[in-house]
Amino acid sequence: MSGSRTQSGSPQVAPSSLPVTPSGRKPGKQPGAKGVWRSAPLEAEGTRNHYPAACAICGTVFELWDPNRGHSAHFVLDLEPVGGGIRIACLRHIHHATQCACGAVTAARPGMGVLIPGRSRDLLLSEACLVGPTLATFIAALSVRYHISRTRIREFLAGWFGVTLSVGTLDRCIREVGVACEPVVETLLDDLRQAGVIHADETPWRQKEKRCWLWVVLSSTTAIFHIGSRQGEEIRDLIGDAFLGWLVSDGYGAYRSYKKRQRCLAHLIRKGVALAGGLNPQGAHFGAWLLREGLIHEVAEGTGARIVNPILARLKRACKRHRDDEAEKVRALAREVLNDWTAITAFVTNPDLPATNNEAERALRDAVIARRISHGTRSEEGSAAYAATMSVLETCRRRGVDPWAFITDLLTDARRGLPHRAIPLPA
Ligand SMILES: [Zn+2]
Repeated sequence: MSGSRTQSGSPQVAPSSLPVTPSGRKPGKQPGAKGVWRSAPLEAEGTRNHYPAACAICGTVFELWDPNRGHSAHFVLDLEPVGGGIRIACLRHIHHATQCACGAVTAARPGMGVLIPGRSRDLLLSEACLVGPTLATFIAALSVRYHISRTRIREFLAGWFGVTLSVGTLDRCIREVGVACEPVVETLLDDLRQAGVIHADETPWRQKEKRCWLWVVLSSTTAIFHIGSRQGEEIRDLIGDAFLGWLVSDGYGAYRSYKKRQRCLAHLIRKGVALAGGLNPQGAHFGAWLLREGLIHEVAEGTGARIVNPILARLKRACKRHRDDEAEKVRALAREVLNDWTAITAFVTNPDLPATNNEAERALRDAVIARRISHGTRSEEGSAAYAATMSVLETCRRRGVDPWAFITDLLTDARRGLPHRAIPLPA
């Protein structure tokens, strides 16, 4: 578990992350409120023409000189590179209709994505969208990666690019990116389950008033984030029952059904450190012993089984000596170590197995910052979008792929209704 730790293991909410007294209003435009309209009409700096390729009825291929007339038009604002910087260009896209010799009229139409069942209707992805794929990805990056609120993104785009977008439009971009990322995550699950070593961790998360958990499961090349309950089935849905590799995790019960497991030693050492600094003399003694034994150092340096083995033998003896200790915390730690001994020492006989869960904790760090700033997500849809985007982002990073270029392509394809591409694995 990362982020907030308490002795009882229940999530503790820092005062700063307590939700503001709810006003009872829904976020966004209130019913009956006056709509916000663009004060100045958009001015296109250029035009892109789209022509139908062939007659929809008889299949005759159209020629460039066949008569066309404008059928529909929309503006697209998109980010484009200019001389080492970026700018937002406004283009008018015109879709033309052509009349065939057979008499039928065929119109070119903007691409249309697949409607995701169970999702609100406005999540139908389409090319006929004011915000182009690069700008939409940029907006999602500002939100998910750089933790900027929608109101501030609005202010930023208006101030630095002179482009005014409503908070609702920004929100839609962020969710669209999430929707484009979701099918990729499905395929990432297969990649993950084939890994030899998986790390898993979880941290408290808030979804509006609901108390949730943010899970991360990752291998060296794949990372999957998921927001849900803290039930064991959440982790089984992610890793699957057929997983044959090793699982590195903390001592949380949900992980214990996996036989091949390495328990994160850093957690135990932290408990030892807490004991050493505590007021209880027995506890302080036991804690100080743990520190003196140099287990921390060995684990951190990864010096190998020959040095760690004798330390572990002494650890086991010390725990046996303390398992009926009068001090509750000492007793609890000693018993915890003994009860989970196989998982604590798995790394000794498996040199490829990391003894700590630092990998997963590091992957959650960014989400912990996001939670502190935005107090979590506001809806199931928002949670799904956040988790999917984080999964693709972190997996790209692990595979040496530029995440934002990849997500831009992903969104471009999704708006055209094309099948999603896979994140290439390193050669
Ligand atoms: Zn025709």
